Amino acid sequence: MFQRLSADTRRLSPAARQANRPAMSTTTRFAPSPTGTLHVGNIRTALHNWFLARKAGGRFLLRIDDTDAERSREEYVDAIRADLAWLGLDFDGEERQSARLDRYDNALASLHAAGRVYACYETTQELDLKRKVQLGRGLPPIYDRAALALSEADHAAKAAQGIAPHWRFKLDHAEPIEWYDGVRGAQKFDPASLSDPVIRRADGSWLYLLPSAVDDMEMGITDVLRGEDHVSNTAVQIQMFTALYAAQHKEPEIPRFAHEALLIGKEGKLSKRLGSLGCESFKERGIEPEAIVALLARLGTSQPIEPIADRRKLVSSFDLSTFGRAPAKFDDAELDRINTAIIHQTEFADVAGRLPERMDEAAWHAIRPNLSTLADAAEWWRIVTGPIVLPGFSAEDRVYLAQAAKALDFTGDDPWHALTGVLKEMTGRKGKALFLPLRQALTGQDSGPDMRELLPVIGEEKAAARLLRAAK
Ligand code: GLU
Repeated sequence: MFQRLSADTRRLSPAARQANRPAMSTTTRFAPSPTGTLHVGNIRTALHNWFLARKAGGRFLLRIDDTDAERSREEYVDAIRADLAWLGLDFDGEERQSARLDRYDNALASLHAAGRVYACYETTQELDLKRKVQLGRGLPPIYDRAALALSEADHAAKAAQGIAPHWRFKLDHAEPIEWYDGVRGAQKFDPASLSDPVIRRADGSWLYLLPSAVDDMEMGITDVLRGEDHVSNTAVQIQMFTALYAAQHKEPEIPRFAHEALLIGKEGKLSKRLGSLGCESFKERGIEPEAIVALLARLGTSQPIEPIADRRKLVSSFDLSTFGRAPAKFDDAELDRINTAIIHQTEFADVAGRLPERMDEAAWHAIRPNLSTLADAAEWWRIVTGPIVLPGFSAEDRVYLAQAAKALDFTGDDPWHALTGVLKEMTGRKGKALFLPLRQALTGQDSGPDMRELLPVIGEEKAAARLLRAAK
């Protein structure tokens, strides 16, 4: 069993807790529900859990939260794995909640024996009505625990009518729930302000709360890092951990919790678009996995967002204490910028397999600075290999281009410098008049890669033919 922090240690100052932190034991998990593909928000959660584990030299687990048999799909499990692979987020183990249902049964039984769960029969309509009445009286809509008053005979009567109960976890109202949150700092909840949560439906299916706590316990999860929409779940789950450990007569080993601020659109709102933005659309847009990783690594933190392609650098600088509490703003233009900057640093060997056939290292170096996405390389390679469409040239330029065709000299290591040097001498041209007709004749374009690098890639024969054709 991994050694984790005891409740007392958790009350220490952050620095003291850090010092106590048993680095080698860190185990994190990413726990998606396979009811859809990953979106940028859960990609970020996966990434941060991966960072936390990798920085500590610990373990990162993939846990498929598929207790909802109706909505979970195998194709989404495959898509989640494929997305993690594309992002380079390797995991050290995979677990599935649907294979662990007996564990949750056992946990429910032990909580039942300890008086920490109870059977309820209210219908959704009845619960809605109760809430409305409470709100009408200006009271918070908290479950009134009416089912706790049911007698053995009441339960027996329900059973006789074939009515199965749903189950609630009974929160202990005796003391506040406290934890030191890795992002939010000291947290304190009054359990009486929360409804006893439903943990199992009448049809026997599980809601998220208990299975997740059981898994975190049994899988030795040391750090739970997730979105701030889970803060009140954490309060409940801390009581679940305590109750489950108590049922086993063990000292509670509660994970460290951290809740990161949500991701919002650039416009400052929770956007629908972000909810559907995932790896497929990034791929279609020509975004490299390293770009999305570099952006999401630091978005919402006080660290600068930089086009860092070296994953180790991002891992070593990952630091929860730099996370802000304000929502992190996701900006597509920023992603594009990071992406372009990362492509400009990418070595040939790392992309060779994705480049047009026969495009070599020299061509990659010539073309790379002009790419926004890797897919643009095909367009420039087509310009190198031809055929190209030439613009019309003035009579004067045609004479000049004929001179250029003759002056071509590939014997040195910089034929562009040699060519423009000779032409400058011969014609007195300079600047745009010297360079632009040559570029246009050689590429059909007004702008593009550095000709010094591109001309050797086009090659002597093709360059001469293009200049002569333009001179006609
Ligand atoms: N399956 C849960 C979700 O996707 C996991 C939350 C957690 O990290 O505990 O929200």
